Amino acid sequence: MSLPFNTLRSSGGSRLSELEARALEIIRDRGEQGIYQHELWKLLGIDSREGSRLALRLLKKGFIVREPVVHNGHRTYRLMLAKPVQRRAPAAAELSISLNMALDIPCFTCPHLERCHEGGYFSPSVCPVLSKWLNELRRRSKI
Ligand code: SF4
Repeated sequence: MSLPFNTLRSSGGSRLSELEARALEIIRDRGEQGIYQHELWKLLGIDSREGSRLALRLLKKGFIVREPVVHNGHRTYRLMLAKPVQRRAPAAAELSISLNMALDIPCFTCPHLERCHEGGYFSPSVCPVLSKWLNELRRRSKI
């Protein structure tokens, strides 16, 4: 099941732009390996300046995470979907994720969103608030 990225809204309530939705689809299709950000810019046909702004917007909205890497001797970032959107654990695979559910993701209204990333003090993989929301989602899907 693919998520309807073009229907998701940010915590501020603004709908994702076509460019943001397209970027998320490309990043999602790369799976856990993610994509180097310059590759994404190329696929989207945008320059690095616009691309960096795009990545920061998606990062702030909690849709992606980025990891600093060195590629061909250059420092860059690898972009991956954030766990709440990306994770497809067997128990969650059958979930019907509606727009309402997506809007309930606690990250969208979390005061720590901008500081939250894998490996950080605030991290989706260890966040009790996000775990609680996912567990509730699983529990409801079994009712
Ligand atoms: S701290 Fe938790 S709720 Fe907040 S953005 Fe990170 S994962 Fe989401």
